[in-house]
Amino acid sequence: MTAERPEVEAAALPHEGANAHSAHTIVIVGAGQAGGWAAQTLRSEGFVGRVVLVGDEAHPPHERPPLSKAVLSGAAAPESTRLMKPEAFDALAVQWRPGVQVRRIDRAAKQVLLSDGTAQPYDKLILCTGGRARRLAVPGADQVPLHTLRTIEDAQALAPALRPGRSVVVVGGGWIGLEVAATARQQGAEVVVVETQSRLCERTVPAEVSAYLLALHRAQGVRVLLGAGVRGFARAADGADGADSRLEVLLADGSALACDTIVLGVGLVPNDELARAAGLACEGGVLVDAQCRTSDPDILAAGDVAVAPNPWAGRSLRLESWQNAQEQGMAAARSALGQAVDYQPLPWFWSDQYGMNLQIYGMPTPAHRVVQRGDPASGSFVLFYLAGDVVQAAVGANAARDLRFARRLIEQRKTVDAERLADLNTPMAKL
Ligand SMILES: Cc1cc2nc3c(=O)[nH]c(=O)nc-3n(C[C@H](O)[C@H](O)[C@H](O)COP(=O)(O)OP(=O)(O)OC[C@H]3O[C@@H](n4cnc5c(N)ncnc54)[C@H](O)[C@@H]3O)c2cc1C
Repeated sequence: MTAERPEVEAAALPHEGANAHSAHTIVIVGAGQAGGWAAQTLRSEGFVGRVVLVGDEAHPPHERPPLSKAVLSGAAAPESTRLMKPEAFDALAVQWRPGVQVRRIDRAAKQVLLSDGTAQPYDKLILCTGGRARRLAVPGADQVPLHTLRTIEDAQALAPALRPGRSVVVVGGGWIGLEVAATARQQGAEVVVVETQSRLCERTVPAEVSAYLLALHRAQGVRVLLGAGVRGFARAADGADGADSRLEVLLADGSALACDTIVLGVGLVPNDELARAAGLACEGGVLVDAQCRTSDPDILAAGDVAVAPNPWAGRSLRLESWQNAQEQGMAAARSALGQAVDYQPLPWFWSDQYGMNLQIYGMPTPAHRVVQRGDPASGSFVLFYLAGDVVQAAVGANAARDLRFARRLIEQRKTVDAERLADLNTPMAKL
C-alpha cells in the first residue's frame, strides 16, 4: 500500500452523486477507526473531491478492540485489525498521510498546518483524533517502566511480559484493565488488579454487574484489590531471572506489591488540544451537535474525542466504543456532505474476557428497576433495566441472541411484562 497516492481526477471516480461538489477538499485528522469510516463513507456517498486523511500513526486505519485481546495474546496479527483490505483502502483514492501530525488549525485561512511543515487547505475538516491513555502523576511514575494500552506498539511491547512465572499488576479495574488482566491470566501470568473505587467498572455499569466481573476474575485466580489507591511506583531488588528489575506498586495503605510488569488502565484523555487551540467549544472533548458539527460549522468531530448529546443518557457525553467510532465517523462524513444527519445512537459496548462476552445496550443506572433473566452462576444471563414497564437498558453475558431482542425492546420503547421477561421459558422473540 502506498502512502501517497496520485490525485485522482474527479471524473475518474465512479460514485459521483448529487452531493459530490458540496465541498472540494475534505481533510480528516486522525486515521483511526472513526477517521477510516469517515473516509470510506465520503466515497460511498459519492464524494469525488479530494479526501486527505492525516494520521500520526504509521498504520492504516484499524480497530483497537483486539489489541487487548487476540493481538495481545498473540492469537491474531496486528494486520488483522485493519479496517479495510489494502485493495479496498487503495480504491478509496484518499491522500493518506501516515506519520504526519496536524499541529494547528487555522480557521481564518481554512487550512491545517502539518508536522512536515506544509499547510493543507480544507473546505470541511473532520476531527477524529481519539484519545490517549491517561498517566498517573504520582512519585516514581517517570522512573519505572509503566505500560499503557492504546496502540499496536503498546500491545507489542506488553505481550512478551505476559507469560508463566511473571507477575503483572494492573492499575485500574475498568474495561481495558480487566481485559489486560484476563489476557495476562490466560497467558499464565500472576495478576493483581488494583482499583481505587469500591467496585470494578464503576463508571459504566451498576453494582450487580461489577459484582459479576469481580467473581469472574477471582474465579480465574486474579487478585483484585478494591478501594486501593496507588501512591507511587518504585524499583525493588533484581528480578528472579535477573533480566529485569522487580518493580513495586506502592499503595495508599502503606503496603507494596512487588511485580515484574505494571500496566496502567486508568482511562483516556481526549485529544482535543487542536480544537481548543483553535477556539472550538470543548468540555472534556470536542462539543458537537447531532449533526457532528462543532462550534465551527465547517469543522466536525467524531469518535472518542467527540462529546455529543445523547437522548438515551439524557445528557451530552463521549462514547468510547467501537460502535460509536464507526457510526459517528460515518455520520460526520454524511454531515460534511450536507446530508441531513441526526446521530443519536443507542449506546452499545461489548467486552470479551476469558471467553465470556459481555454486552451493554443503553445506559443502566441505579434508578432503574432490575429484572434478571438467567442466573449469572450459569454463565449466561441478561439484566434488564426498566423505567416503569419500559426497558431502558440491558446488560448480558454470553447471551448475544437475547440481547439482540433486548435492543429492539429498548429502541421500540415497548412496555413489557417483567415476569415474562425474567422467565427463560418465554422466548424473547415473543416479547
Ligand atoms: C485496547 C482497546 C480495547 C478496546 N476494546 C473495545 C471493545 O471491546 N469494545 C468496544 O466497544 N470498544 C473497545 N475499545 C474502544 C474503541 O476501540 C475506541 O472507541 C475507538 O478506537 C475510537 O476510535 P477513534 O477513531 O475515535 O480513535 P482512535 O482509534 O484512537 O484514532 C485516533 C487517531 O488519531 C490520531 N491523531 C490524534 N491526534 C492527531 C493529530 N493531531 N494529527 C494526526 N493524527 C492524530 C491518533 O494517533 C489515532 O491514530 C477499545 C479500545 C482500546 C484502546
